[in-house]
Amino acid sequence: MRVDEEDLREKAAAVGDLLDAEYGILAWRSHGEPLGALVLTMLSQHTSDRNSERAYDDLRRRFPSWDAVREAPPSEIADTIRSGGLADVKAARIRAVLQDIFEKTGRTSLDFLAGTATEEAKAYLQDFHGVGPKTAACVLMFSLGRPVLPVDTHVFRVSHRLGLIPKRLGEAKAHEALQALLPPERVYAFHVHMIRHGRRVCVAQTPRCGACVLRARCDYYRAGGAPGPAPAGTPGV
Ligand code: SF4
Repeated sequence: MRVDEEDLREKAAAVGDLLDAEYGILAWRSHGEPLGALVLTMLSQHTSDRNSERAYDDLRRRFPSWDAVREAPPSEIADTIRSGGLADVKAARIRAVLQDIFEKTGRTSLDFLAGTATEEAKAYLQDFHGVGPKTAACVLMFSLGRPVLPVDTHVFRVSHRLGLIPKRLGEAKAHEALQALLPPERVYAFHVHMIRHGRRVCVAQTPRCGACVLRARCDYYRAGGAPGPAPAGTPGV
C-alpha cells in the first residue's frame, strides 16, 4: 500500500498532539552557545548523556576558554574528557574542529552561525570531520532554535515503528524525510518527546505497547505489537 505524503503529515501531527498531551507542551530554550553545543554533541557520541555531560563539565572547568582547549596537547584534552569514553578519538576530533574554525574565521567561536542561513550553517558544520547530520542538527536546533530535526536512535526507531519512515532509509536520510513531515514550530518538541518516549515506552528490545499513547496510530502495534507491561511511573497507566 502506498502511503502518500499528506497521510504521513497528518499522522505526524496526530503523533505530535498525543506526545504533547502525554509529556506537556514544550517551548524551545537555548542550550547554550553553538560551539559548546557542538563539543557536547561530539562528546555524546557512543556514550550516555550522563557521561558526556560530565566530560563536558570537566573540559570547561579545566580550560578557561575554547582557545585554551585548541592550544592544549591532545593528551591533556583526552585525560580531561576520559569519563565520556573514546577519549583519544574525541579529543583529536574536537581539537581539529577548534583549529579548523580558528583558521577559517580567526576566532574559536561559532557565534557567527546565528546570522547564517540554516542550510548554509548545516553544510558548514557537516564539513568538519566527525560531524554528521545528527550532530549538525543538534547544534542548530538546541543552540540556535532552527527547525532542523536531529534523528538519533530513539527518534529513528519510534518513527519507523509508527510507520512515519521506512526502515531502509537509514538514520542519515531519515533526517530530511522526517523533518519534511513536521511544521517548523513542531520540530523541537517532537524531537525531545520522541527521545523520552523511546527511552521509557517504545524501548528497543520489547516496546511497551500496552502503555503507549501512540498505539492507535502505530503500524507496529496494528501488525501485532508487543503488549509489554507499563513502565513504572508512566502517567495515566
Ligand atoms: S505502540 Fe508500541 S511500537 Fe508503537 S510507538 Fe507505541 S510502544 Fe512503540
